[in-house]
Amino acid sequence: MPLIIDTHCHTDTSSLLHCDAMLDAIESEMECHGIFAAVVMPLAPEGFDQLKELELFVQCISRRSRLKSMLCHDATTGNDGTRHILELLEIDSVAGVKFFTGYDSFGPCDDSIAQILDSIEKRGKVAKFHTGATARTERSSLRFCCDPYAFDDLARLRPNLKIDCAHFMAPNHISMAPVLDKNHNIYTDLSGLIDSYDRNHENSYAGFVRYRLADALAYLPDTNQIMFGSDFPFCDRLSMIAFLDSFFEEYGYCEEQRNRIWYKNAQELYGFIIS
Ligand SMILES: [Zn+2]
Repeated sequence: MPLIIDTHCHTDTSSLLHCDAMLDAIESEMECHGIFAAVVMPLAPEGFDQLKELELFVQCISRRSRLKSMLCHDATTGNDGTRHILELLEIDSVAGVKFFTGYDSFGPCDDSIAQILDSIEKRGKVAKFHTGATARTERSSLRFCCDPYAFDDLARLRPNLKIDCAHFMAPNHISMAPVLDKNHNIYTDLSGLIDSYDRNHENSYAGFVRYRLADALAYLPDTNQIMFGSDFPFCDRLSMIAFLDSFFEEYGYCEEQRNRIWYKNAQELYGFIIS
């Protein structure tokens, strides 16, 4: 079993009780699957109350040494929300902020998040963005999360900002590959890779995704910007691990390339200490 860091999972933050119960579940599952550490963010469903829920979320995570909290930016909270996030970013166990680009109608270079990005950059934390397809029923704007060049622009504007693009812009992995190649401050996670579509027949997206991934990864000189992520509880961690294991075997990835993806890149980007 390889050492693994999961850079993308979610917890319920509607109450202290729910949050703690779900974090318990996350940690016991981590134990079973050999996952050493994880970056956790709120589920942030419709009606998410940023001011109340982030507070209790950070409190719950700070008691758990293997977990780091990723704050969720709620675009509807305006200046109060921004101020609140800036305060929470001062806490050590906070890894950074996740922006729901696409679900929210702004791109990564939007002025409305500039102040938050300044603080993330100054503190060496991580700006995580939703990239790629969104849930089908959402009234989202795909141009804010499916345009690889918007993330190239962000990386050029802020070469010292640590950027994590969730989901490798699935299903457009190949369009993201040159952006990763050129900008070494952009990383991507592989979360949501296989559970998004019907996997029960041969010609489904899940059947082809390994070719898309192989194509995009073959373009890159190394695997130094790719990280394991599950998207728990929306996706099953064990299937993700099994998928990657067989993918690495099929395409002959060496141990160093695999370990970069399983944990080393996440360890470096998020500053996890492995004793
Ligand atoms: Zn997610």
